[in-house]
Amino acid sequence: MSDIVLLGDEAVALGAVHAGISAAYGYPGTPSTEILEFLIDYKTRHGAPHAAWCSNEKTAYEDALGVSFVGKRVLVTMKHVGLNVAADPFVNSGLLNIRGGLVLAVADDPGMHSSQNEQDSRFFAEFAKIICLEPRNQQETYEMTLEAFELSEKFHIPVMLRLVTRLAHSRAIVKVGAKRDENSLSKPEEKRGWMLLPATARQNYLDLLEKEKEMLAWAGDSARNPLENARGGKKYPLGIITSGLGRNYYDENLPELSSEIPRLHISAYPLPRNKIRTLAAACERIIVIEEGYPLIEEKLKGILEQDITISGKLDGTLPRTGELTPDAVRRALGLEARQLRSEPGMELPGRPPQLCQGCPHIDTYQAINEAIGDDSHAVVTSDIGCYALGALPPYRAIETIVCMGASIGMAKGAAEAGVQRVVATIGDSTFLHSGITSLVDAAAADTPMTVVILDNGTVGMTGGQETILPTSRVHRMIEGLEIDPAHIRSITPLKKNAEENRRIIAEEIDHPGLSVIVSIRECIETAKRDKKKAAQEGQA
Ligand code: SF4
Repeated sequence: MSDIVLLGDEAVALGAVHAGISAAYGYPGTPSTEILEFLIDYKTRHGAPHAAWCSNEKTAYEDALGVSFVGKRVLVTMKHVGLNVAADPFVNSGLLNIRGGLVLAVADDPGMHSSQNEQDSRFFAEFAKIICLEPRNQQETYEMTLEAFELSEKFHIPVMLRLVTRLAHSRAIVKVGAKRDENSLSKPEEKRGWMLLPATARQNYLDLLEKEKEMLAWAGDSARNPLENARGGKKYPLGIITSGLGRNYYDENLPELSSEIPRLHISAYPLPRNKIRTLAAACERIIVIEEGYPLIEEKLKGILEQDITISGKLDGTLPRTGELTPDAVRRALGLEARQLRSEPGMELPGRPPQLCQGCPHIDTYQAINEAIGDDSHAVVTSDIGCYALGALPPYRAIETIVCMGASIGMAKGAAEAGVQRVVATIGDSTFLHSGITSLVDAAAADTPMTVVILDNGTVGMTGGQETILPTSRVHRMIEGLEIDPAHIRSITPLKKNAEENRRIIAEEIDHPGLSVIVSIRECIETAKRDKKKAAQEGQA
């Protein structure tokens, strides 16, 4: 055993290496990005396991299924909204006879620090009827990653490891063990477990329901779900259920609470119904402290037969949105909020997010704004990435941001609904993630709209990961859709080209068919980083 300081994300990555994975896949997205970054760096230094970014979360999940199919262990990572993209293979994979352990590490973002919504991935785990583990600190994150692979191979299901931002992005000392060997390569002799034809899928679903009983029994006995202080025969006014980081906030208040409060901590799902019933039988009221949606709180009514007061997010005892905070939990427990020491003169000015000075998107947006002029009927859709900041002043260049890849489809819809001047703006990585399929639709219909691909050669927003295909190949791919070559244009977003860029964009907006403009200039942050790295390598 040795001690290492790790981020929560890094604890997952190292846990997966020590569990003997042969591969890891993912798509960058805060707060999950550092998991695969760690593994890509690990592969560079040690030669294995294979680790790679994919076009999107769905392809990453499908790659992972292929590794598991041939008997090897595999990790797949994404953020919570990415799981929506991977939902199809993910939910179906609950019906597969998973062989090599498959663990999905998904990082939720309560409080929406850098996300479009707060969704709670535990619901997805429940929907797919698989096990979910929810660590509350870095040590548990490491240990639960190892355990998740064991459980995946024991129950032949994928296992979800659910993190949240505060855990993913904070560091602590972690005691780590030795690396296990990889599984050997082997194909299943019985293929039914991997064939979701209706006849076999029906049987696989019955098998999953049988496994569900075993999973319930396992979760009911698991030491990951400890029930404390509920002594039989005694009735307590209050009982507590915590999950994930909720336990840390509760534990902070223990010195001020009665030592007699029964408490059930849940970090392994499906919910341990037997322990929940035992707790409820000993209490008059239960407060549920969980990070994310009120999943446990909503389920209690269906699990408990007796009428018991349940408090939490649904009745306003805890805030319904955002992250849990120590003060919110104190208030829920009937304790006074702590007096925080205020530092006079330390108030920081508000700093709204903004595009970096010299960002290529600034020049592209200025050219689009000028091309559109004061036409208030024009529509400019956009997407997820740094360029989403073009919604803010002083640019106010875009009008929609919904989900990865939605900009092109939304622009198509607006154009087909009769809007005359429609522009979709999308980054190169988002285009390859899931914008391209909508461009295929638009090319088939020759929809009168202009797609501007903001090609900065990197996944800028998540820290500069490589895009799946370089600019030259993206161009050839667009040409392959048989869009009129006269209306596939390139611009270089620089101040000196402002007038020419405005003219090209205006011409294409007025073209009564589909046009694509690729605006090509590298992200300056990535360019600076690469220059620095090259200089360091030159010195070495
Ligand atoms: S990181 Fe790159 S793409 Fe993002 S705002 Fe900064 S310069 Fe622009």
